[in-house]
Amino acid sequence: MEDQAFVTLATNDTYVKGALVLGSSLRRYHTTRKLVVLITPQVSESMKKVLNKLFDEVEQVDVLDSGDSAHLALMERPELGVTLTKLHCWVLTQYSKCVFMDADTMVLSNVDELFEREELSAAPDPGWPDCFNSGVFVFKPSIDTYNRLLQFATEKGSFDGGDQGLLNSFFSRWATTEINKHLPFVYNLSSVSIYSYLPAFKAFGANAKVVHFLGKVKPWNYTYDPKTKCVTSEVHDPTMIHPEFLNMWWDSYTTSVLPLLTEHGVVKDTFTGLKALSDLVYTLAFSCGFCREEAVAEAVAQLSIDPPPQPSISSEERKERWEQGQVDYMGEDSFDNIQKKLDTYLK
Ligand code: UDP
Ligand code: MN
Repeated sequence: MEDQAFVTLATNDTYVKGALVLGSSLRRYHTTRKLVVLITPQVSESMKKVLNKLFDEVEQVDVLDSGDSAHLALMERPELGVTLTKLHCWVLTQYSKCVFMDADTMVLSNVDELFEREELSAAPDPGWPDCFNSGVFVFKPSIDTYNRLLQFATEKGSFDGGDQGLLNSFFSRWATTEINKHLPFVYNLSSVSIYSYLPAFKAFGANAKVVHFLGKVKPWNYTYDPKTKCVTSEVHDPTMIHPEFLNMWWDSYTTSVLPLLTEHGVVKDTFTGLKALSDLVYTLAFSCGFCREEAVAEAVAQLSIDPPPQPSISSEERKERWEQGQVDYMGEDSFDNIQKKLDTYLK
């Protein structure tokens, strides 16, 4: 048991939130395996401290500094950055077997039985079931496999530009051989399957063991009301047919993760506000068109979903709202107000 681990990846503080929810869900169901998180230098020091509380190992990986084949691969194919970072999980040779889980997954029961499977075991992708979904997979760390994967990435690339395309081409026998490497779908139930095949979800959804918030909109992009324990969305959103899993993610975030973040001073209202704004400005200034659109859409969605600003709410309440992503950009948390507050400190 000591030499087996669940592994996840977070390249920034946003995905760290997901990793923390995943880690606390694995702990809640008393996994007997180690918990490992791979991070990159973009993750803040305070988030690293919080990760250290929950995970047995917080391993920093830096593709550019590794100086070997990873470096070369990235130089030739810079678009594979995050993909190559995920491949780093094969380097964890202190473990004999691991289960990789995306940071946007969460377990609903103990899933330690996954370690009975061999490399490469995974569940079908809901969009193309002859491909496996790379959000949950069983693998065996090996430097040899890692190097062969990197070589494959450099020579052949990835048909979808991400790790899933690459891994499916590399482990290409998955679709046709060895049925015991096909994990039941309940080990990687994606929210998209809920509305794309509702009767199947109604029949089998109760057996779900791992939920995967696959796609562009992640749980942390929603707003949540801790009093009603419900996620809210005013825009049309098919995942809202069954928001149970989203509500569970948020419940886990508010009850298990937020206390850790507050304890480590990660959540500070004025500072966080300024950082969120500066992140947005940075994205607007430096990102590609696609990310820019996404950031603006997110900011706009935030504005339209937020309840109208209420007069004189307490500082504590405002902090709570901020933590749930309900930022009052036009009112209390406007840039002008933040600046005024900073000015008073400076004076
Ligand atoms: N990831 C990350 N930072 C990013 C994008 C992705 O750390 O900016 C990691 C994270 O573990 C994430 C995984 O890579 O869960 C795969 O990406 P994502 O879950 O967003 O893809 P999807 O499952 O929606 O295809
Ligand atoms: Mn995912």
